[in-house]
Amino acid sequence: MSCQNAMPPDGPIANQSGASQTVAVRPRMLRTREELMAYDPEREPWAQQLSRRYTHHSQLAGILEHVEDVPEGLYSMFNFRVTPYMAQLMDPIDPSCPIRRQYLPTGNELVIRSYEVRDSLAEDNSIGEPGSPVVHRYPQRVLFLVQNTCGAYCRYCTRKRMVSDADAAITGHAIDAGIRYIASHREIEDVLLSGGDPLILSDKKLDAILARLRAEAPHVRLLRIGSRLPVQLPTRITEELCELLSRHDVQMLNLHINHPKEITPLLVRRLAMLRRAGVMLGNQSVLLRGVNDSVAIQRELCMRLVEIGVRPYYVYSNDSAQGNWQFTVPLAEMTEIARGLRGWISGPAVPTFVVDGTGGLGKMPVLPAYVMQDGETGEVWATNYEGQRSRQRNLEQPANLQLCERS
Ligand SMILES: *Cc1c(COP(=O)(O)O)cnc(C)c1O
Ligand code: SF4
Repeated sequence: MSCQNAMPPDGPIANQSGASQTVAVRPRMLRTREELMAYDPEREPWAQQLSRRYTHHSQLAGILEHVEDVPEGLYSMFNFRVTPYMAQLMDPIDPSCPIRRQYLPTGNELVIRSYEVRDSLAEDNSIGEPGSPVVHRYPQRVLFLVQNTCGAYCRYCTRKRMVSDADAAITGHAIDAGIRYIASHREIEDVLLSGGDPLILSDKKLDAILARLRAEAPHVRLLRIGSRLPVQLPTRITEELCELLSRHDVQMLNLHINHPKEITPLLVRRLAMLRRAGVMLGNQSVLLRGVNDSVAIQRELCMRLVEIGVRPYYVYSNDSAQGNWQFTVPLAEMTEIARGLRGWISGPAVPTFVVDGTGGLGKMPVLPAYVMQDGETGEVWATNYEGQRSRQRNLEQPANLQLCERS
């Protein structure tokens, strides 16, 4: 990994008024807590804020207390990036803060369990065609990986094998090959731009990719984008971006919000712009130990999401990429958390809990059993969210039914 030292040297703070887009000096990192908290992310164009990201855990030591000092070797497995806005949300003292847990590395990451692998979803084996970054696993839909970096790096990332790795950068040639692949496979009805984070691309590049997909692959009915950047840098959502998504009829944007603390007034305002532009908003989160592994947090998160116009879509189990075990919630607990939502909160707020199968099986729902048929007797019994049971005679096999009841 070579991008570790890509930070600009410290220099005078560039024009902070935000009025002028021409900045001679790249903005510098905010080194002290005072400087960080005085910073207004709305007063600076988003791309400049990327230059202010923290790139080493030690840089946060001047800003937060109790930052674990992890070995340098960890950086050869996965990089470190945190946006100033994300750092503002971190608890200054408590290392168990859900935002800190997601972004600050711990030594545990260097401990790899025997079942953990680089590419646990075997995505590299599902590439539609060598040289094209299109994962074609399902019959009619694909993942198109258009960018391999992100706004900030989540320690539990399932694609840490390629995300942030300079050697895995996705070139313009690869994107061309991806568009050709999609254009020549008429069975593809649904394209999901993913990465890394597609919104790291400039509007101009995104515009070009979307325009070509719409022009060259008219068989694509649904265009979606998966991005965490709005959560890590809400100002990425601009009027220009909204206009461009709406012009190419990108029907859906899937966010990645894991905890209610990530839903700030700034994010809510920016997401409202996307809703006005007619983009459906969904949320895909990951169930993470010490971050959101309780019924209370999940209920609050899901209700808060629908409240701001975002439909909770999937909650993933944590994938078994290397060093991820420390975040993983076992199935029994996951199922209990899923059971704590259905019936207890609004129907549209209930996400589907899924396991993305190791080895490339695809996503499979984790479904607590509510309505079951007894294999022996054929009786159908339903159990509601409170544990009350009733027999559903109308759903049993016709052989078990008496056509005429005589008394
Ligand atoms: C998640 C995923 C999709 C999209 O799946 P949906 O259930 O339609 O959201 C498509 N391809 C791959 C490889 C995926 O992992
Ligand atoms: S935003 Fe997504 S792809 Fe990027 S580091 Fe986080 S989990 Fe990985």
